[in-house]
Amino acid sequence: MHAVITPSTATRSSPNVARARRRELGLSRNEPRNNARGATSCTAAQISHRNVSSHCAGRPGIARVGDAQPASPPTGAIPRLRARQRRYHERHRTRLNETRRGRDRARYAANRESLLSARREQYRSDQALAERIRARNRAWYERKRDQRREYRRRYWQEHGDELHARSRERNRRRYAEDPRVQLDYYKQWRLQNLERARAYVRVSAHKRRANAAGTHFTFEAWEELLRTHGGRCAYCGSTDHIEADHRIPLCRGGTNEINNILPACRRCNRRKHRKTEDEFRAVLAAEGSNSRA
Ligand SMILES: [Zn+2]
Repeated sequence: MHAVITPSTATRSSPNVARARRRELGLSRNEPRNNARGATSCTAAQISHRNVSSHCAGRPGIARVGDAQPASPPTGAIPRLRARQRRYHERHRTRLNETRRGRDRARYAANRESLLSARREQYRSDQALAERIRARNRAWYERKRDQRREYRRRYWQEHGDELHARSRERNRRRYAEDPRVQLDYYKQWRLQNLERARAYVRVSAHKRRANAAGTHFTFEAWEELLRTHGGRCAYCGSTDHIEADHRIPLCRGGTNEINNILPACRRCNRRKHRKTEDEFRAVLAAEGSNSRA
């Protein structure tokens, strides 16, 4: 009788199975059973379709001297099984990919922090990688340049006041917590980034001027305006650090023409900031009535 081994009939305890397995492996009855463990090949029957890799893992591919030769060469079985797995994957591609994606996402979510810090570490240590990433980002920014500029411009127009208020609030809070720390921080930053600090001023002045359509007031017109105000701040009357203030700020569509200019002390000019003349006067009036009350 010829014993056929299938996964369903192969059980550990059956002596018939053991005999059949020996025959399949080409072992004689006298050879010890555990020689089969060192066998260099696997028969198709031993390889269930699920564990090709685990069954054959770690086994040497070349027959050792003294090893029994297998009855049939195994080279056909594994490629056949691999082809079957490939076909299975082809048929169920969508479902399998979905499963894998879900698993990957869950793994990412579970290890997000460590993965991110590993990536940051890699970015820090691998100069070539960092350069590749920066190049990719630069390319993206270049491609989207006009779109980004338009978006920023619109966003700033709509939310400028709000953004300013928020950052002013934040700075005030920090300053109130510890004035020294905040001032030292600014000073340090400026010292360490002198070129950038100067560039910021240049760029913002340039932007402001570019934003203001029309002509710039002349020095003579400014001197005449100062004379009519007696060299004093148009808001508080101080003579300290008089500057040219825009009644309607440039950032809100004001011009650089002399009828949009008033002399203001540095303190009033800083406080007025993005407010119009009317808004700032309203603030001053409210303060005045508060202090009188
Ligand atoms: Zn003033």
